[in-house]
Amino acid sequence: MRILVVEDEKKVANFIKHGLEEERYIVDVANDGEKGLEMAMNNEYDAILLDVMLPGRDGFKVLQELRNAGISTPVMMLTARGATEDRVLGLDLGADDYLPKPFSFEELAARLRSILRRSSTEKTTKLKCQDLVLDTVSHLAYRGGKEIELTTKEYAILECLLRNKNRIVSRSNILQHVWKHSFDPESNIIDVYIKRLREKLEFDPSLPPLIQSIRGVGYRIRETSQINQENEQQ
Ligand code: CA
Repeated sequence: MRILVVEDEKKVANFIKHGLEEERYIVDVANDGEKGLEMAMNNEYDAILLDVMLPGRDGFKVLQELRNAGISTPVMMLTARGATEDRVLGLDLGADDYLPKPFSFEELAARLRSILRRSSTEKTTKLKCQDLVLDTVSHLAYRGGKEIELTTKEYAILECLLRNKNRIVSRSNILQHVWKHSFDPESNIIDVYIKRLREKLEFDPSLPPLIQSIRGVGYRIRETSQINQENEQQ
């Protein structure tokens, strides 16, 4: 899951970013309203944490522009404690929730899970392939019922493949989904991560491989256990 944090106080932004990254979200930060709006318009986020008091365009204006542009990404406003009128205005403009400052990380994480759960009624919260299950709310992966420890980026790559199950996902699609900055498409960073993911997913040598390499293009995760070994690069 990819989250945008629009917050001008660097300390608060870093606190949120680090906490969410530990919970295996991919986090982008914008330090003002203008940049936040631009990032929200040009990327697909699963949720946006939007501060109200921002230099330039404030959080309400950003929210209004997003909703006017038809972007329905769930938004949680970060408001000053006691500013009731701010909360009402935010909700009227189409915010999904508000969180008064100062807040504990636990509360932020719980509220975020709640808006993600609400917004994902049409999306499933469990992605499956063969005996692999990825829970997109708790961010845990299981194979044959055994929990697999994944890093944030490994999780994001696996989620990207599972959301495109049975389809080939190009390296540049994976880069776009998982890394915020563009990498040289010739770089082998994805292959390095896929190799590690495979080692984790095939923790027992008797387990069939799940991720298939498509030479020169990308990767695919398939429902059938028959993976053409000829296509295997690694
Ligand atoms: Ca602020």
